[in-house]
Amino acid sequence: MYMRKNLKIFCLFLFFLVFTLISCDKDKNANENKKLKVVATTTMITDLVKQIAGDKVELNGLMKSGVDPHLYKATEGDINLFLEADVIFYNGLHLEGKLVELFEKMNKRGGNLFAISDGIDKSFLITSSNFANNYDPHIWFDIGLWKKAAEFVANKLAIIDTTNKEFYLESLKTYIIKLDSAENIVKQKVNELPKEQRILITAHDAFNYFGRAYDFKVMGLQGISTLSEASVFDVQNLANFIIENDVKAIFIETSVPMKNIEALRQAVKSKGKEIKIGGELFSDSLGNNDKPEGTYIGMMIYNVNRIVNSLK
Ligand SMILES: [Zn+2]
Repeated sequence: MYMRKNLKIFCLFLFFLVFTLISCDKDKNANENKKLKVVATTTMITDLVKQIAGDKVELNGLMKSGVDPHLYKATEGDINLFLEADVIFYNGLHLEGKLVELFEKMNKRGGNLFAISDGIDKSFLITSSNFANNYDPHIWFDIGLWKKAAEFVANKLAIIDTTNKEFYLESLKTYIIKLDSAENIVKQKVNELPKEQRILITAHDAFNYFGRAYDFKVMGLQGISTLSEASVFDVQNLANFIIENDVKAIFIETSVPMKNIEALRQAVKSKGKEIKIGGELFSDSLGNNDKPEGTYIGMMIYNVNRIVNSLK
């Protein structure tokens, strides 16, 4: 009788042990299957997260190709995405002008909200006289700085999602090699152009980091943000500069209306010189997903080819 009672207790214990082990295993599987929900603002950052995280996260890119981040306003759907997200990556440095206030409110409530520009030492940032006390936000145009942004994204993901830590850090290594090779291609292309011909005139002042990294003099008709309007003074000044320096081409941008660049072309014409529009550059947005310009590296190579070939 005593033995039977003991056996009963033992069986009961065994049953609970097995049950506990099974349910633990179930929980573990549930956690493994649940992907981190990541939201990225610009097309450049969305591409960066895709390169690092692959299919390990559920990624939502807020802005579509051709959208101007300076003017972007969050929709109701975006706000829901922000609220459901485990992690949000944005550029910072006031690039996403209209989102900043919203982000600041969210930051106060805590959560994984990261400005990728925080991954770059302030001494590498360009200050702008156009934008008092602020840094130029167009950091992606220096591939060297974009490598820092890639490290920042990979390290944050590795800390938050430890299950896939090794994957993120391996992807980072692979992507840095690709960025190194893209940097070489860009530098080689730039070297086809004599130094005095390296003058880049665009619709808005997005290319200062590009100019510093690859040795171009850069001038934009609008300021750092597309919010400011070009003045007639700017147009006449630039027209004179173009004539004095025999600049071959000026450029429009996919995310900025072309009316100001057209006004500049007319001003140059009225002074007796024809200047060609060197085509569209991708400035604050990547191209469509189905094209090489739909990735950051593809966009950089496309831009440098277009710039150098048009200025020759
Ligand atoms: Zn811009």
